[in-house]
Amino acid sequence: MEHAWFELLSESLQRRIEDWEEEIEEETDEESADRGHFLTYDGDHSIAPGWKTGGYAAWGVTGPHAVVCACGTPMELLLAVSSAEWGGTNSWVPLEDRELVGTHDANVPTQVSVGRGGSLNIFVCPANPLHGHEVSLQ
Ligand SMILES: [Zn+2]
Repeated sequence: MEHAWFELLSESLQRRIEDWEEEIEEETDEESADRGHFLTYDGDHSIAPGWKTGGYAAWGVTGPHAVVCACGTPMELLLAVSSAEWGGTNSWVPLEDRELVGTHDANVPTQVSVGRGGSLNIFVCPANPLHGHEVSLQ
């Protein structure tokens, strides 16, 4: 299960998440810290990387903004086309692919590259799928 982009959460929830991340970092022993990864909202709980239908869009390049159909309805993510299925953290690596982590190009099975390693988000109008789509390159 993925969760919304951090900046789209309420300020009170953002503060609670930041406090939670600080607690995790403080509780992590040195050996784990040397491996260089603390659980974070952005990396491990927020936007699932890779190709997907539905869910939440990543806004790493532009920051979040409303995507609204010409009919006035807020649009929903239909499809995310991504340059990689995972990266930075292994939290989102499918169980069947865990043994491939670290293998050359294991996280790019489609060999599709969007821009310079980004993602293309395609949005659809939930009120009427015949309304025009919107895209966002991130
Ligand atoms: Zn519409």
